Amino acid sequence: SYDEFYVKSVIRSLPDWPEPGVIFRDVTPIFKDPRATRMVADAFIQRYINSEISHIACIDARGFLFGSILAHQLNLPLVLVRKKGKLPGDTIHQEYQLEYGSAAVEMQTDSVGQGDKVLIFDDLIATGGTILAACTLIKKLGAEVIEAAALIDLPDLQGSARIQEAGVPVYTLIAYE
Ligand code: IMP
Repeated sequence: SYDEFYVKSVIRSLPDWPEPGVIFRDVTPIFKDPRATRMVADAFIQRYINSEISHIACIDARGFLFGSILAHQLNLPLVLVRKKGKLPGDTIHQEYQLEYGSAAVEMQTDSVGQGDKVLIFDDLIATGGTILAACTLIKKLGAEVIEAAALIDLPDLQGSARIQEAGVPVYTLIAYE
């Protein structure tokens, strides 16, 4: 069964990366540890099995990893929210502000549409800007965002609060204050 202490012990914290003063929470060791991977996947599967969700939209790039496990286990379609310029065909994109400068995420216009009930999945919520931009795209395509899920929340950065203020429930497994 899910053991938060164990999963937290597997996540690596890297001080001063990618810049001084930032503690980077590195989830890649989870995927080297099948017990931790299974625990995390099972926790999300338990939450979303028998839910109304029709599609999983996972975010470039670490959101793809658990996103594809969940889509497979829940037998749901998986769609990609990518950094701008990666997806072929007809796309829409949404810019959002970073601390310095801006970024943009993009989806294929046929990925979701009217009547679809979408779960957004990423590895980590910091300022919430990425997930809020994904929400904007999904709503522009006519679909509904049911919930945003991530393995890790950084509540001090208030991203999960911003997402909930926008009317989207947030579900995370681990918080780092
Ligand atoms: P936000 O848009 O500020 O919420 O940042 C979240 C995005 O940045 C996610 O796609 C994360 O993968 C990435 N990110 C930000 N900080 C970290 C971190 O400490 N570890 C891993 N990913 C991070």
